[in-house]
Amino acid sequence: MQYDLIILDAGHGGSDSGAISNGVMEKRIVLRWVLVLRFILELRGCKVRLVRDGDFYESPLAKAQKANAIAEEEGAENPLFISFHNNKYDKTSANGLENFVHSSASVETILLARNIAVELVKRFSILGPLRQESGSPYPGVKMRNFTVLSKTDMPAILLEIGFISNVPERNFINDPAQDNLIADVIADQICAGQANGVEIVIDEEESTLNTERDDCEELLAEVTAICNSLGWQADKLREILNK
Ligand SMILES: [Zn+2]
Repeated sequence: MQYDLIILDAGHGGSDSGAISNGVMEKRIVLRWVLVLRFILELRGCKVRLVRDGDFYESPLAKAQKANAIAEEEGAENPLFISFHNNKYDKTSANGLENFVHSSASVETILLARNIAVELVKRFSILGPLRQESGSPYPGVKMRNFTVLSKTDMPAILLEIGFISNVPERNFINDPAQDNLIADVIADQICAGQANGVEIVIDEEESTLNTERDDCEELLAEVTAICNSLGWQADKLREILNK
């Protein structure tokens, strides 16, 4: 599948911190991830829009409706929606990832969710082993009709990457040095269809421009400004992204 618009949602936000453990908040981790993933996807020529680009609250229904409005506004024919989350469980030994799709999801969407799970576990053993829901042929993928999956009029995936309640995993997902590595694995899978497809989303000329320094700097400045406004380690992020 070739996606002409990728809509990223950082789960929770504002008064809703999501899972919290030892002062680490899910809403912050996932916002960092969508900012870095947007940066990486845009460098690869994808059109990306964010549902949440700051620390504010919107209900899951409002987020789904916003994603639908964005897709319409952009005139997208093949949009993709991905919502990012972290997990939490009473048993601190619980670990790994769970990727969710709606029960009516297409095979392409299920496969994308599966491939993201498989490749993340392959790259980061801390997120393994990959678990398979009984009765499902797709390891790493579960079917749940969460609001952001049921109310979005497009292929939609919800990623629960890492347990904030598991100490080593919390340290891993809360480390900004891992952000671009995690985002890179996800971007590879989102773009896998584009790379194998007949056409690339943008034209050659624009693609060349995207790799130019000025363009990178502009995107970096944007990410940095948001990180700064939230008091994060923007310098470290910049250093990582510049590598
Ligand atoms: Zn969550």
